[in-house]
Amino acid sequence: MEFLKKIEEKWQKNWERARIFEIDPDPSKPKYFVTVAYPYPNSPQHIGHGRTYTMADVHARYMRMRGYNTLLPMAFHYTGTPVLAMAKRLADNDQGLISDFINVYKIPEEKLKELTEPIAMARYFHQEIKTGMKEMGYSIDWRREFTTIDPQYNRFIEWQFEKLRQGGFITQGSHPVGWCPRDGNPVGQHDTEGDVEPEIGEFTLIKFTQGKTFYPAATVRPETVFGVINIWLNPNTKYVKATVNDEQWIISQQSAEKLANQNRKVKVQETIEGKELIGKHVQNPATGKNILILPADFVEPKNATGVVMSVPGHAPYDYVALENIKKDAQKLKLYGIKTEDVNSMKPISLIEVKEYSDIPAADVVKKMNIREQSDPKLEDATKEVYRHEFHNGKMKANTGKYAGVSVAEAKDKVKEDLIKEGNATTMYELLNRPVFCRCKTECIVKIVRDQWFIDYGKPEWKALAHKNLDEMEILPEEVRQEFNNVIDWLHEKACARKSGMGTRLPWDKDWIIESLSDSTIYMAYYTIAKHIKQNKIQPNQLTDEAFDYIFLDAGNPAEISRKTGLDANALKQMHDEFMYFYPLDSRHSARELIPNHLTFMIFNHTAIFPENHWPRQIATNGQVMMEGSKMSKSFGNIIPLREGLTKFGADPLRLSVLSTAELLQDSDFSPIIAKSMRDRLEKLYRFACETAKTPRKKPSKTSLKAIDRWMLSRLQQHIRKATEALNKLAVRKAIHTTLYELDQDFQWYQKRIADENRNPSRKAATAHVFHEVLDTQTRMLAPVAPHVCEEIWEMLGGKDFIARTPWPTVDESKIDVKAEQNEDLIRNVLEDTQNILKATGTKPKKIYYYTAAPWKWKTYLKALEKSASEKVLQKDLMKQLMQEPDLRANAERVAKFTGQITDEINRTSQETKQRRTQTGIAQENETLEEAKNFFQKELNAKFLVYNEEDTKRHDPKQRAQLAKPYRPAIYIE
Ligand SMILES: [Zn+2]
Repeated sequence: MEFLKKIEEKWQKNWERARIFEIDPDPSKPKYFVTVAYPYPNSPQHIGHGRTYTMADVHARYMRMRGYNTLLPMAFHYTGTPVLAMAKRLADNDQGLISDFINVYKIPEEKLKELTEPIAMARYFHQEIKTGMKEMGYSIDWRREFTTIDPQYNRFIEWQFEKLRQGGFITQGSHPVGWCPRDGNPVGQHDTEGDVEPEIGEFTLIKFTQGKTFYPAATVRPETVFGVINIWLNPNTKYVKATVNDEQWIISQQSAEKLANQNRKVKVQETIEGKELIGKHVQNPATGKNILILPADFVEPKNATGVVMSVPGHAPYDYVALENIKKDAQKLKLYGIKTEDVNSMKPISLIEVKEYSDIPAADVVKKMNIREQSDPKLEDATKEVYRHEFHNGKMKANTGKYAGVSVAEAKDKVKEDLIKEGNATTMYELLNRPVFCRCKTECIVKIVRDQWFIDYGKPEWKALAHKNLDEMEILPEEVRQEFNNVIDWLHEKACARKSGMGTRLPWDKDWIIESLSDSTIYMAYYTIAKHIKQNKIQPNQLTDEAFDYIFLDAGNPAEISRKTGLDANALKQMHDEFMYFYPLDSRHSARELIPNHLTFMIFNHTAIFPENHWPRQIATNGQVMMEGSKMSKSFGNIIPLREGLTKFGADPLRLSVLSTAELLQDSDFSPIIAKSMRDRLEKLYRFACETAKTPRKKPSKTSLKAIDRWMLSRLQQHIRKATEALNKLAVRKAIHTTLYELDQDFQWYQKRIADENRNPSRKAATAHVFHEVLDTQTRMLAPVAPHVCEEIWEMLGGKDFIARTPWPTVDESKIDVKAEQNEDLIRNVLEDTQNILKATGTKPKKIYYYTAAPWKWKTYLKALEKSASEKVLQKDLMKQLMQEPDLRANAERVAKFTGQITDEINRTSQETKQRRTQTGIAQENETLEEAKNFFQKELNAKFLVYNEEDTKRHDPKQRAQLAKPYRPAIYIE
């Protein structure tokens, strides 16, 4: 372990000293620009965070070895609520948080006290995260680092928003937004606990009347109003009588505040216990019928108005609640309700749908065996009924003018009509409530007046976003549809808030741009950040005209330079550098950011940049699990990244987070995997130490034996596989090929040549193979385990850093199909023999092998050829074979043999068929004979090979006739 640590430190220092990751434009090379979502510095990183960044680094390192001038930069996202809320929790003395910081992340208690100030917190964790990234060996160009509160960056965001406004992408108005009542700010996914996007839905409030008082029942199915036979209130909660605009409403206490946030004048007059309202009557505005107010526990006062209409025919909750109350005579008595009044209540059937009887709610409740209102299965039951009724249901005759109309249509019509008649209104609610702000307050919906929005709902803009997406590579391809869906359903997004850290809206300085809106095109800023620092460019010099020139190639640079005092040369360099590195070639992020950040990035690029500067690829990855379960502070299974680095080392950690899963799957970290990776790397290192001692000379082509050619040929297959895998960022597959499959072949090779080391004429050849394998393997492993690979590379006499050494390419001249085929034969024959020995438990003295006769080969190859284009049938095959005189002379045995091989040939893979057809008759006697020593040693017995028709063969049990091509017969004595 100690030595791994030393290697890591050594190479991190060497890289830094040689500045090999400081990437400048180089017109002689193709460029590649990789970025990864910058972190919010509001806590130290844990191992799970390492995955996305390691993936991006592996990608960058791979592309660099492929000859691309590859830039990987990094910055820090100070703005937005994540830092603010964390500092506030600390200031509020949140014991859970303090304990995590002290016990899990080992932050000194003294230090914590300074972190209650948001910027101090951001600065502290910024350094912590940056150090971790350096210790992980990321190939980042740190000259381009910035934070989102740098005044120059603020200018950049101001420019972006001016561009958006000029393009008509910004609107101002009153729209519902997710809202934290405590902070007085809109909330998006990055502001909530557990990163939940608040989903806003609209409820219809149907006004059931009691004289002049309204009971506004909230529903998403207004068309079922004709089937309402009672309304439900929760007897154990508080309701209020309130004036809402100019009406008298009875609503839950919680909903009074919500309505006030949705542009209504609400004045609470008195508080009433729910139970006092039970047993009274209200009138259904659609049918005019008088109905009872009944008690129900499932009514959630925090959901919409806390008043619920009861449609037991079509709503499973209502059906179960009605059945329950009918059986509860005692409860009815408590509220002074006559049992016969309730017992006579029958569900009304108002929708016809082929999947169900008249009472769909009853069908589903029975099918799912639901008895209680508290049964969580009721959610599924409700969804199921709704799905069928919405898609296939028709309104029945008892719905008056809506009779015969589809449910999907009636839903909107009934709502519109009720509202027109003054019998209904609407209210917004969070469909996925409860959603909690990072400050722990439950979020609500607010209609904000004069709120600024980015109008992602604009159809022309959606078309541009789709165009970009269609032209872009999405890795893995499976998530493309997710992007399409997000583009389709995005609508106006609140883009500014009244408080917090960030850039002020340039035209309305009361507003601060929120963090999912100030992080959409910042990849462009990396191309100029270096120049801004080096030339000490002031924010006021970065005028809109300056940015227009740099990013859009507009305007006159000489004039801009004169007006701003910007050095003409610096201005040109920024412009040229942007033009060199843009478009962005690859964007990395976790999959959770598809519904917001990643899609916002697409939208904003298409709004601001010309098409040739739109992003070209997005790569998303899954999470890291810890030994099978989700990483969570409360489970105590979080390993801070830097602790993991100390425990396991950087390369083992990098390998562990990437080797257990492909991009989209969740990867599973465990200390056992990390340790086994460390062992593998140590083994590789020790092997390299040994190999480095042997001189590396190129042997003559003729001195390479079949087994050497086999190893070099296999090596090419592994290069091909790893390259194809990395081109799709299938890093797990690349690691598997490089570390395991190649190793297996190499171990076989070492076993096969074990005897030959004493032979000086063979030494040069095998040393050459050892060097070539190690050289190639080290280069293929370098993107994932860069430190150990640099060390080995240096030992092997590599001239430059391995990070700048070309990735291995397939040398077609080294592919030796015949050698591979022959070696397969040896491997299979040995394995077959060992299996027989194991099964019979015999200790052999002599082992005899019989290879197939020439006529069998002829038959086999004909069959193989035929099977290339069709499924082979024995009778067709025989018809064809009988045209050959020599085979016809032995029709009987040919028939028997074809019977044995037809099925097998049909099952053979196309690839194998092709290869075997190509190589023709294999000289199996020769191949096996050559490996004689090896067999004798492995099997500890005398080894003899005959052709099955050899008259001198020893074959007392008549085994020879069983021989087939590629499957010699075996006899053991
Ligand atoms: Zn809050």
